[in-house]
Amino acid sequence: MSNLNIFKIGVGPSSSHTLGPMLAGNLFCKKVEKLLENIARIEIVLYGSLSLTGKGHLTDKAILWGLNDLKARNLSPDLQEAVLRQVFDDKKLNLCGKKDLDFDYEKDLIFSKDFLPLHENALKISVFDANDERIYREVYYSVGGGFVKTEAELEKEKLGKEKPKARKLAISIPNATEALRLCDENGWNLAQLSYNYELQFNTKEEVRSYCLEIFETMQEVYYNGIHTKEEFLPGKLHLKRRAKTLSQRVHLSTDPIGIIDFISLYAIAVAEENGGGAKVVTAPTNGACGVVPAVMLYLKNHTTGFSDDMVVDFLLTAMLIGSFYKKNASISGAEAGCQAEIGSASSMAAGAMATVLGADAHKACNAAEMAMEHHLGLTCDPVAGLVQIPCIERNAFGAIKAISAARMAMTRKSTPKVELDDVIRTMYETGKDMNYKYKETSLGGLATNLSVC
Ligand code: SF4
Repeated sequence: MSNLNIFKIGVGPSSSHTLGPMLAGNLFCKKVEKLLENIARIEIVLYGSLSLTGKGHLTDKAILWGLNDLKARNLSPDLQEAVLRQVFDDKKLNLCGKKDLDFDYEKDLIFSKDFLPLHENALKISVFDANDERIYREVYYSVGGGFVKTEAELEKEKLGKEKPKARKLAISIPNATEALRLCDENGWNLAQLSYNYELQFNTKEEVRSYCLEIFETMQEVYYNGIHTKEEFLPGKLHLKRRAKTLSQRVHLSTDPIGIIDFISLYAIAVAEENGGGAKVVTAPTNGACGVVPAVMLYLKNHTTGFSDDMVVDFLLTAMLIGSFYKKNASISGAEAGCQAEIGSASSMAAGAMATVLGADAHKACNAAEMAMEHHLGLTCDPVAGLVQIPCIERNAFGAIKAISAARMAMTRKSTPKVELDDVIRTMYETGKDMNYKYKETSLGGLATNLSVC
């Protein structure tokens, strides 16, 4: 499977809690399109983390947009608003954009306290006929990064039954160890390996134009973040947006380490756009969407020669590293804490930065390893269920750690003791051992210790 979709143009504030549920709504529409004539009622149940932090993450609204067949890429505030007006004012849901059903938000959208067994982020959608007999039902799991699986798909995956179906590839890269072996054998760096891997699914032109569009969108999001007219982020924290004024201040600074403030600015501007529910690039999640662009903007604005070719190499490397986390661990805060989101993003950015600055695959994997090693144990405790505190600042720290890790790996003379696969496994085990209070439930940590809430 191609790794291009580790980076996706989506909508904030959360890939697992906003983008994923919206996609689940789209997928459900595909399943019931032919049954529309018989459908008289719909019921949606949110479970686990989707229920506990769903309101702050706009999960309830995202699923309604998805069921109206709105697609993330074409969303606009007007379309989003129109769907919500119909639901809340007219008590109607336009299923698949084709059939109006009576819909009572208080009764037909249920926030359950239960967790379903396969993943922390679950939702169930059922449709009923005029006699109130259920005619179709599907359970979806939003597994992180905007990826969604049905109950059957996830069950198969957990039982390891999915692998025989995968098509045989000339290059397959299940983990970092295999990536290093292939790079050594072919004299490639990680970007070249990732490129050759992607050519099994896409043309050269598709890979290049996809990567350039992703970076273009990241820059657009940054621009929007520092030019916004909104003074505050939505939600009960009433959090003041900082990027706009920070952008005016950093340019006046004569501090020799003022460059750190630029990196923070890039990350905060993008993460604030996400917190505001605007368009962002999922990288590899929405909560962590500021890390990769901040490191890329650092390279573009504060080093020389960051060309389009380097943009493509950066993103190819980052997506390859991200795929190791996705395949062998998790990129979901609800499954493994913030180490899986900000930690994975930082690791991706570190390995990618090292690569475009000339590191071989071993040094780049060491950069990626270090960036994750020093995020291990990081919990997910979004205050008031909003992707704002601690998420926005955390993007800045993730970017700064990535840059430090890349620089340390490139100048290192000793042989590292910890391999990238070791730290990926450790992150996952740590995440599985982590108390559920610290996995995007807002039941522990800062979320319960801030008096403002
Ligand atoms: S604390 Fe981290 S994992 Fe949790 S919502 Fe915020 S950015 Fe995502």
